[in-house]
Amino acid sequence: MAHVKSYYAATANQDLRFERLNSNIRTKVCVIGGGFTGLNTAINLAKKDYDVVLIESEKIGWGASGRNGGQLISGFSFSDHFEKKGTEKDIQNIWLLGARSADLVRDRISEFSIDCDLKEGFIDVATNRKHMDELIHRSEEWEQSGYHHNLELVDETQVKKYVNSKAYVGGLIDSGSGHIHPLNLCLGEAKAASEIGVKIYENTRAVEISAGSPAKVVTENGIIESDYIVIAANAYIGDLNKKLRRMVMPAASCIIATEPLSNELAEKVMPSDMAVCDQNTILDYYRLSADKRMLFGGRFNYSGKIPSDDRIKVEIKKRMVSVFPQLSELRVDYAWSGNVAVSLKKIPQLGKVDKNIFYSQGYSGHGVAPTHMAAKVIADAVDGDDEVLNLLSSVSHIQLPGGKWFSSPATAIGMMYYQLMDKLANFSR
Ligand SMILES: Cc1cc2nc3c(=O)[nH]c(=O)nc-3n(C[C@H](O)[C@H](O)[C@H](O)COP(=O)(O)OP(=O)(O)OC[C@H]3O[C@@H](n4cnc5c(N)ncnc54)[C@H](O)[C@@H]3O)c2cc1C
Repeated sequence: MAHVKSYYAATANQDLRFERLNSNIRTKVCVIGGGFTGLNTAINLAKKDYDVVLIESEKIGWGASGRNGGQLISGFSFSDHFEKKGTEKDIQNIWLLGARSADLVRDRISEFSIDCDLKEGFIDVATNRKHMDELIHRSEEWEQSGYHHNLELVDETQVKKYVNSKAYVGGLIDSGSGHIHPLNLCLGEAKAASEIGVKIYENTRAVEISAGSPAKVVTENGIIESDYIVIAANAYIGDLNKKLRRMVMPAASCIIATEPLSNELAEKVMPSDMAVCDQNTILDYYRLSADKRMLFGGRFNYSGKIPSDDRIKVEIKKRMVSVFPQLSELRVDYAWSGNVAVSLKKIPQLGKVDKNIFYSQGYSGHGVAPTHMAAKVIADAVDGDDEVLNLLSSVSHIQLPGGKWFSSPATAIGMMYYQLMDKLANFSR
């Protein structure tokens, strides 16, 4: 099993391989899923002296963690649907967890000297006045809440010093966010996990989980008996647990990588070299890679189906050229897609499906930093400190009916609705 063909797979800085599980084993904790959530939960628990086994059905970093936009953004996604069940202080505490999540990634990178092209700085850009007002409001709120990194609002003229496009009426710069090569971060974390004692098996799919003490994870070639199980399969959970699958809506997100820009063109188009996202629900996100390719991502397919790489090349290039007409002549070298797990209330879903079976999922396309915080919360809970987990899991999660999300009419209608809302907002710009 290989990683999907992408710029990241082509520039992976190590070729890590782990054997397949071929026997029955006993452990203290079994983590299912070799992305950021699973690896970091495993690292945190191994550091607390737990025996940890991590199984991955494909390869480490095969899922969203090894193929995302690489935008390292502080903060959890909150939506208006977020129902608070706790006090104002509880909500402030949840907010702080999100605000500190990118710092955890930086700590991880320096703790294990992970080479993953970390660059600092992120700008949220507004394509219309309504979005700019939202950014102004957010900046005020974050500053009042004690955000510990610098925030700076920029207007229509100033924004061009950071992102040289006519598409934007302003933006909010966050010095506490940035960008990374996600697959190299993931591989670096897997190497670190393995070096501190986590036993990793690739090409090992969990096909069934049975509750109990110990609980059991059945794989194709062996059964793992474990005191605790952590499910970290996110959008790729498939049939492993129907309840968790129904709590999220997988949606495809697509990325292209162009040929490298000349230094002059890179400096002209993206003078700040920051990560960039717009405020639309069906958003554009982009950044320059270490070798100055434009990595431009977004969604264009509202059917809920995964598009072909050739279509991604054409459609995402159109979006990129609408933002940067200066890039119309660039060749597109790579195109790929992956699934994000959208939770209807947008906030990540953490909790338990049984007394010793934990899960974290539903980062709604914004998971690079939050997965690292979720992994800390889950590891603390396994270790007996479940205060934060209980707070987060008190957010009631909506379960969606049906099962086949990828071709679901509900997904398509939802996406069409959001596309229409984006268009209306930009129309009135
Ligand atoms: C195209 C794309 C762009 C994105 N861009 C950004 C971005 O720029 N910034 C940002 O913050 N977020 C982004 N995201 C979201 C972010 O990548 C995810 O939220 C995050 O990586 C989720 O990590 P995870 O470990 O929970 O899941 P994953 O990385 O998906 O890992 C889950 C793993 O579980 C494995 N698995 C599933 N079922 C089983 C099983 N039964 N047995 C064993 N293993 C199993 C899968 O193979 C997979 O490797 C993007 C996502 C995509 C797809």
